[in-house]
Amino acid sequence: MKKDFKIITRKLAKTYDLREMDFPPLIRDPLDSLVGVILSQNSTDKVTIPIFRFLKSSYSYEELSRLNPSVLEKIIRPCGLAPSKSKRIIKILRKLKQENEKVSLDFLKDYSKEDAFNYLTSLEGIGPKSAAVILSFGFGQPFFPVDTHIYRVLKRIGFAKEKESRIKVQENCEKLIPDSLKHDLHLLLIMHGRKTCKPSNPRCGSCPIFNECNWKFKKKFLTT
Ligand code: SF4
Repeated sequence: MKKDFKIITRKLAKTYDLREMDFPPLIRDPLDSLVGVILSQNSTDKVTIPIFRFLKSSYSYEELSRLNPSVLEKIIRPCGLAPSKSKRIIKILRKLKQENEKVSLDFLKDYSKEDAFNYLTSLEGIGPKSAAVILSFGFGQPFFPVDTHIYRVLKRIGFAKEKESRIKVQENCEKLIPDSLKHDLHLLLIMHGRKTCKPSNPRCGSCPIFNECNWKFKKKFLTT
């Protein structure tokens, strides 16, 4: 269903302060984004942020690419899925080194949006959402990653159909949300999903986009 994302963005921006958002979306470096999204898969920012900061302060990406995966595995263990995440990170860094003689994603700046997306999703451990995060936050491209919070909110407000896949919703967002809104709206919807439109007991009574929401149960949650 069509939604006025300009109004939704304006209302959410009056409620949430984007400065509260920390890693991973706010990081600006493409490789930081890539390593950050892998570390944060199935983990929380609270666990991932200190580990990411430790890695950044301890190793350059060149050094990291030469590390034995078992060493990285020990460091990132609190993030969960450490054996596969450590292997993936090091495999990608080594591939970049082999292909470009340096550990960098800068060559993607010369790619079209589609080619850059296809390159990233060809890497092990990088799916459509992760690729969109890297391109949006690492390269400033107008992508719209749909995470679990955004997916839930977009279904409840009626933009996405209940059974629509997350990747389909992401494709629709990329087509239908104006580029100028994508960056902020992405972050605002994550904040909205975390703070107000929670998975259970959403706080519909204090929802800034109550009037824009088509969720049939919203009136049952006016007092939560
Ligand atoms: S009214 Fe309730 S369900 Fe709808 S967006 Fe707001 S919090 Fe979510």
